[in-house]
Amino acid sequence: AGVRLARCSDTPRLDAELLLAHCLGRDRAWLMAWPERVPDVAGRECFEALLRRREQGEPVAYLLGEREFWSLPLAVTPDTLVPRPETELLVEQSLALIAGRERPRILELGTGSGAIALALKRERPDAGIIATDVSPGALAVARRNAGTLGLALGFILSDWYQAIAPGPRFDLIVSNPPYIAAGDTCLQQGDLPAEPRQALCSGPSGLEALRIIIEGAMSRLVPGAALVLEHGHDQHESVRDLLRQAGFGTLRMERDFSGLPRVSLGLKPA
Ligand code: SAM
Ligand code: GLN
Repeated sequence: AGVRLARCSDTPRLDAELLLAHCLGRDRAWLMAWPERVPDVAGRECFEALLRRREQGEPVAYLLGEREFWSLPLAVTPDTLVPRPETELLVEQSLALIAGRERPRILELGTGSGAIALALKRERPDAGIIATDVSPGALAVARRNAGTLGLALGFILSDWYQAIAPGPRFDLIVSNPPYIAAGDTCLQQGDLPAEPRQALCSGPSGLEALRIIIEGAMSRLVPGAALVLEHGHDQHESVRDLLRQAGFGTLRMERDFSGLPRVSLGLKPA
């Protein structure tokens, strides 16, 4: 099965193990422990069906209906981006920025499966968090995840700040917006074609959503509060310029575990 998936996946063996374990109602450790067991007919049919869908380009996370982020099991569907491991950097930076604040008020823009907001709520139960998305389907998944995990968030259907009145209310605004340029050929590669286009692209430059988010943040943050953003590895200079133009100070960039610029942040002057 791993050989069959090698054409469509960078991790064919792992994919095959995850799909087989799912069909058998077990985990990968069980597969390792019982390598000589032969699956029953139902298990084989399930596995064959999922392999075929994987070969057609469906992401493993959609086939399993789940992906782990920040050690939280999250439901994911074709309405949501599959949460990426590098986005945990955004959570780490957010936690550091609110470390000294009691009952911080946080706004997450474009929550998708709810990954970032739920990770923050798990770490900071005292935080008041609003998570938004323009996609009703994504917001429904995020709401379901919050229910399953027993984490209370506010959910708002909104085109970026449209439903968020100006007025300094937030101690942190965080977002992993769509940032891939609409013409980028990577959109045709790997699992990206299966993900919602509106989760990946906001326009020709890839900076459209980042610009809107940066420009609207200042009027909604309290003095000294932070805006923290994920972006493409080649966008950090543009993002820094946008942050500076919008009046942010104490600008900083952080690299992901591949050494690539991935997160930028700025503080509203106190
Ligand atoms: N926060 C999730 C994560 O990190 O896994 C999802 C991030 S995904 C890159 C971007 C999200 O922004 C998608 O869920 C998409 O639906 C949402 N989005 C796109 N355009 C939007 C808009 N105009 N207003 C609000 N959210 C939007
Ligand atoms: N990091 C994602 C990727 O390149 C892009 C997600 C986004 O646009 N925010 O696969």
